[in-house]
Amino acid sequence: MTDTPLKLFNSLTRQLEDFQPVHEGEARVYTCGPTVYNYPHIGNMRAYVFADVLGRTLSWRGYKLTHIINITDVGHLTDDGDAGEDKLEKMAATQKQSIWDIAEHYTQAFKADVKALNIREPAQWSLATDYIAEMIDFAKSIEAKHCYQLDSGLYFDVSTVEDYGRLARAVTEEGEGRIDTVEGKRNAADFAIWRTTPAGESRQMEWDSPWGRGAPGWHLECSVMGGKLLGFPFDIHTGGIDHREIHHPNEIAQNQAYCGCGGLDDAAHSGAKIWMHNNFLVERSGKMSKSSGEFLRLQLLIDKGYHPLAYRMMCLQAHYRSELEFSWEGLGAALTRLKRMVMAVQPLREVESAATDYPKFAPALAKFQDAMADDLNTAIALTALEDALATKKVDAGIKRAVVERMDAVLGLGLLDLARTDLRIRPKDAVISEAEIEDALERRKGARVEKDFATSDAIRDELAAKGVEAMDGDPMGWEWKL
Ligand code: AMP
Ligand code: ZN
Repeated sequence: MTDTPLKLFNSLTRQLEDFQPVHEGEARVYTCGPTVYNYPHIGNMRAYVFADVLGRTLSWRGYKLTHIINITDVGHLTDDGDAGEDKLEKMAATQKQSIWDIAEHYTQAFKADVKALNIREPAQWSLATDYIAEMIDFAKSIEAKHCYQLDSGLYFDVSTVEDYGRLARAVTEEGEGRIDTVEGKRNAADFAIWRTTPAGESRQMEWDSPWGRGAPGWHLECSVMGGKLLGFPFDIHTGGIDHREIHHPNEIAQNQAYCGCGGLDDAAHSGAKIWMHNNFLVERSGKMSKSSGEFLRLQLLIDKGYHPLAYRMMCLQAHYRSELEFSWEGLGAALTRLKRMVMAVQPLREVESAATDYPKFAPALAKFQDAMADDLNTAIALTALEDALATKKVDAGIKRAVVERMDAVLGLGLLDLARTDLRIRPKDAVISEAEIEDALERRKGARVEKDFATSDAIRDELAAKGVEAMDGDPMGWEWKL
């Protein structure tokens, strides 16, 4: 299909590298999943839109994709040092609920966002709590050479593996932002792989282990599920850029210990050949932190009347390695762009796709392929799609086939969206859509009759309810709340 090699940025080597699968014809990808102690914010969802685009690109290039996303339902502490509380235990205590119910509720909320954003389901959602026995076995197998026990649990000694922290490119030997919070640690960067419940206390989630009753460390979960479900080394490990600093270096150290392999000049010793990280979605007033009271959820965007795929479009307009600033204006612009595309594909909706060769579309397709092969440059790929849509005097079936091919990667669902789906309709609007349509219909009738008094009266009536009738708008919004 294409000769352009797929180049991906490997955070471990800080270089673009050609994707060369470990297993011929296959692509195995592990993505760090959400910590389900609260709703995901739209920044979190950027991480999964990115992983989805990666997965779609690999599928599109013909690889048999196995994508795993885990659900962190235990182990992620409120502090990246080891002194914090488990985020889920803390939420369960505040809400006076069972931790299992909390995890279930927020897992469902996450999956609803996944669906709304057209993110493909992974081959498996793996729940950390389903792998406790495997985690204990893993820890047992590395304990003698790499770990030591303190009252608070089993700790990993980072000096026992080569090149610890290379992924983070830490400037000090302790690593960035690390706090030596636990008494008795040999190195500041050492981390708990098993957290023993303090004597006289109990946790809602705890299991027996050789190191006492307790719970696994967060980093251990991902090492175990990645290795178990995909086999070491697998192809690609993804996560948000914050994971480059602590979570992933710690996963890598555990993987090196487990595999009994050497330094990271050979990236595969880390457990995965390529480590990829999406940059953050930021918001000026700080509404992107799940642990702060108010934060931006996808549902808030929907309640304000924006179609969730406008947010996907917003993500695609930026390169995944660039920081992206959220603003309502930006979201509005992304929605308008999406609507333009949907209007352009409207005439293709009923057409049969004709997958022949596409000489007229060759430049747009080549541009698209090159953009995606260039470390998933979706911003350019979108313009290639627009080039294709703007191509005139072409067979509609062929055009449809081209749109289908490009959208299989971008995942905007263009052929399934109707222009009217993209209307901005806030949840708290005082007038229903049916009433608006009805009023506009009556107004159209009055205008045909040249009864301008009635037509103006209806317009004023709508205006009083916050609806602006948009006559002759080329974007075909027709009305606006
Ligand atoms: P968490 O639920 O906190 O474990 O995070 C889920 C995913 O979202 C992880 O891959 C994080 O790195 C990522 N993430 C967290 N905050 C942001 C943000 N503001 N923008 C993009 N990704 C983020
Ligand atoms: Zn992880």
